[in-house]
Amino acid sequence: MPGHLYDTYAPPAIDFERGEGAVLFDKDGKRYLDFIAGIAVNALGHAHPKLVDALKSQADKLWHLSNMFKNPGGEELAAAYCDATFADRVFFTNSGTEAIECAIKTARRHHFDNGAPERIKIIGFEGAFHGRSYGAINAAGNPNYLEGFGPSLPGFVRIPFDDFDALDKALDETTAAVILEPVQGEGGVRSWPDASLKRVRDMTRERGALLIYDEVQCGAGRTGRLFAHQWVDGAEPDIMAVAKGVGGGFPLGACLATEEVAGAMVMGTHGSTYGGNALAMAVGSALWSEISKPEFLEHVRDVSNHLVQGLHGIKDAHPDAVVDVRGKGLLLGMKMNIPNKGVRDAARDRGLLIGMAGDNVVRLAPPLIIEQSHVTEALATLEEAIAETSAKAPA
Ligand SMILES: *Cc1c(COP(=O)(O)O)cnc(C)c1O
Repeated sequence: MPGHLYDTYAPPAIDFERGEGAVLFDKDGKRYLDFIAGIAVNALGHAHPKLVDALKSQADKLWHLSNMFKNPGGEELAAAYCDATFADRVFFTNSGTEAIECAIKTARRHHFDNGAPERIKIIGFEGAFHGRSYGAINAAGNPNYLEGFGPSLPGFVRIPFDDFDALDKALDETTAAVILEPVQGEGGVRSWPDASLKRVRDMTRERGALLIYDEVQCGAGRTGRLFAHQWVDGAEPDIMAVAKGVGGGFPLGACLATEEVAGAMVMGTHGSTYGGNALAMAVGSALWSEISKPEFLEHVRDVSNHLVQGLHGIKDAHPDAVVDVRGKGLLLGMKMNIPNKGVRDAARDRGLLIGMAGDNVVRLAPPLIIEQSHVTEALATLEEAIAETSAKAPA
């Protein structure tokens, strides 16, 4: 049926009605196990009682003031983010792409303020995804997302993933920042090797450039640490964009920065009407108090170990269909030798929701609250879906 929404998406014919933890139900009561979680958004699953309470009680008090007025909820959540990270300052947004915009503006403005206005170049990597605003599509440089939207913006270059010769050449005295996802999401669930992340950090510092991490997908506890780069010692960025999981389903993003860098973003340099909205701050704080518990992150690591082991088991049993298992924590991928879309659709028909990513990868990003029983169920269904897809379209 032709509708009135833009045809930018292609949803399947399912009418979801409600969710509970890691499970969704459609209007006929059919049950689905959710191993994509709104693309790594529903960190605490669906209808988590603490998030529901936080949203409802805030809804009774105050929804929105705008940033014309003081934001105590924002102060509190920003302090929590800064306590747990490299950052000293936070700018709240409503989405990942806006957090990226803020990150790019912060980087350029810092150099401008520092007497180096020529430092505008933003170096990104192949396979990156930073969102859909003009700044974000130029930072990622994916030609498919740039086509038809006018000239590319000046000041953005794209180099191959984990290529230090290319980085060495690109990193010059006009560079503002290097931007990367410690674990690439859309691009195929590719992790930066720990040593490479550290090396990018060291090189940017030596050459007077800033380092921006896009942890929109891999942050918020998803890899079993609060932020994915925290697996690597000494690899803290200057600026970091977060979103998706930090809102748990409420639109919330943030740009985090050091005092030194954020100092240039003075009154009037940036703004947002909704950013830091009272409802978002209430949900964001409730979510943060759950995911920042050490035992919560330990649970993510435990359950991830089981899931990863199981995925390797599937790979061993289906060596023709599965090329490799990748990712970190509960952001996992399997590169396929058969169509990833076939596997995704076959899994959905069997009541398991999973995603796809570039490089013919099947993507798993379940809620972080999943239990062993969910892992067992998902592995069994995924294996059936792979067997069925292999039979239809052998590798
Ligand atoms: C989803 C995503 C974005 C964009 O976030 P939106 O909220 O869709 O604007 C940016 N970067 C990464 C790594 C993402 O996964």
